[in-house]
Amino acid sequence: MAFKALGLSEKVLKGVHAAGYTVPTPIQLRAIPLILSGRDVIGSAQTGTGKTAAFALPILSKLGEHGPLPRVLILEPTRELAAQVETAFRDYARFTNLNIAVVYGGVGYGRQMDSLRAGADIIVATPGRLLDHLERGTVRLDKVEFLVLDEADRMLDMGFLPDVRRILDRCPRQRHTALFSATIPPQIETLIEWAMHNPETIEIGARQTPAETVKHVIYPVSDSQKSDLLLQLLERVNYNSVLIFCRTKHGADRVAGLLKRHIHAVAVLHSNRTQREREQALHGFREGRFEVLVATDIAARGLDIAEVSHVINYDVPQHPEDYIH
Ligand code: AMP
Repeated sequence: MAFKALGLSEKVLKGVHAAGYTVPTPIQLRAIPLILSGRDVIGSAQTGTGKTAAFALPILSKLGEHGPLPRVLILEPTRELAAQVETAFRDYARFTNLNIAVVYGGVGYGRQMDSLRAGADIIVATPGRLLDHLERGTVRLDKVEFLVLDEADRMLDMGFLPDVRRILDRCPRQRHTALFSATIPPQIETLIEWAMHNPETIEIGARQTPAETVKHVIYPVSDSQKSDLLLQLLERVNYNSVLIFCRTKHGADRVAGLLKRHIHAVAVLHSNRTQREREQALHGFREGRFEVLVATDIAARGLDIAEVSHVINYDVPQHPEDYIH
């Protein structure tokens, strides 16, 4: 089935075409008509399933033209995801006159204020900074028609649920809500009951195993052997881009230091780094300037990075879904 048959607006279809998409993914096939028809949707979908477009395309189609501000709020757990989703929205909306703003912490207020003042139809935000703006009165949410809670279980893990509730309290009750989550733990269940209206659940893409194209290998070694093993692996394996996950920020710094001493081009991504450092790390890794990115689970969800040849879980991931991601 082609995108044309799904009922998206002409301008959004042009954006989809320009993005080079020809066939909708399964989650897009299910979610787009539901969101267009005004239903609340719960999606258990992961990165790589096309879930961003699954909510962005119907929302952009329903918005149509520049109108009362802002009408769309997308909440994301991390700054990196917020930036990625904003870029996707800009891409799909390029033939519309809709304005998009991104709001996250760790950077100055200036540019965010400017883009909010310019009038954003769509705000993509992390909860903490959005609350700051709400308290300063630089954002109002009383015209919000579409709310998306992306990576809801990750927001729960990061302790954002109270912030999310406070933000939701500032949105009109009459609105459309979509929620995406790899798992639905009881607190998310409660949030769903409280925040959503008769939602339809889509479970496409809820993989319990890694993709078939991924080969995986486990090395049972003692803790003291891990660093030697890592160095040997990187020496012997022919890799392009390697993503290494560590459980703690301290651990990530330690592994990065070790690799740097062995002349690898390494970047580090975790929440104790400044936003500028985080951006440089991710950007440099995407561009191939760094061959290795060492990260905590801040990067374990949702980031879309092409050409990664190897993923190494230096520590066993805390949640099985993180391993699959
Ligand atoms: P997501 O799961 O939203 O992070 O998307 C994963 C990747 O798939 C992104 O690079 C998208 O640009 C891409 N993508 C999304 N939908 C489609 C589609 N229908 N056809 C081809 N690529 C797509």
